Amino acid sequence: MFENLLPTEEIRQKIINKITDEFDFIKTEKIGESVCGRNIDLISIGNSENAAIWVGAHHGLEWITTLLLFEFFYDICKNVKFNENIHGIDVKSKIEKRGLVILPCLNPDGVEIAINGFKSVPKDELPIKNIDDELSKKWQSNANGVDLNHNYNAGWEALHKLERQNKILSPRHTRYGGNAPESEPETKALTDFCRKNNFEYALAFHSQGEEIYWNYGERTPENSEKFAEIFALMGGYKVSKPEGLAVGGGFKDWFIEEFGKPAFTIEVGLGENPLPIEEFPKIYNKIKTALYFCALV
Ligand SMILES: [Zn+2]
Repeated sequence: MFENLLPTEEIRQKIINKITDEFDFIKTEKIGESVCGRNIDLISIGNSENAAIWVGAHHGLEWITTLLLFEFFYDICKNVKFNENIHGIDVKSKIEKRGLVILPCLNPDGVEIAINGFKSVPKDELPIKNIDDELSKKWQSNANGVDLNHNYNAGWEALHKLERQNKILSPRHTRYGGNAPESEPETKALTDFCRKNNFEYALAFHSQGEEIYWNYGERTPENSEKFAEIFALMGGYKVSKPEGLAVGGGFKDWFIEEFGKPAFTIEVGLGENPLPIEEFPKIYNKIKTALYFCALV
């Protein structure tokens, strides 16, 4: 439905409007704003007391995950509207038991920079002076030059130390975790929202490697590994363990540590970021059954 649409701020709003017009049983909510005042929106369906949360685009270059979440949400809405069964499962009754909350784009400024360059951000907002426009093509951080997936309060100190050892000392396009955990409005909006809701599990979508990560420390639930194995089998993905600068500081890590509930990082697609938009149908079709498994299990 949404292939070939680069998910800029304007396009995301159009998609949300279309979904809202077509399905009167969904809810939309703005949970916060980015550094430059762009909306952090979510869309949800089903039982809000007992829901899963899926988050896309922590990273600017990984905007294909925004599209993927919109596409899947649209498919689920169609299933509910037309009372369709998927793999023998009645989607409507499942979603009425456990809802689905989709946050398609956590890093709206980063996505805008990655798609449209630094003109998307007021010059005085940028943390780096005399910036080379070529750098926008590598931009993963938010508009403060903080990598949101290094900014969560889970092993943040250790990660910060490792960043410094790797000469990552100040705001930049990737892998700088900020000067304190949850220093960024985007990270804070998501953690506050999660604390106010009782989510059953969380998925964070990134775009590199066709992998799923499931563990972080002692509070990782016992059934997480099994869940990851089934997901991997269904999607033709591999189950992985993070290493080095990928350990700690991330949303999945924080969710596991804070709530003791399952959380996963899913890396869709293979190649170089940004994954070309032409590959979207292939990426979506490969992972679709595994996503249904997550939503309906
Ligand atoms: Zn990422």
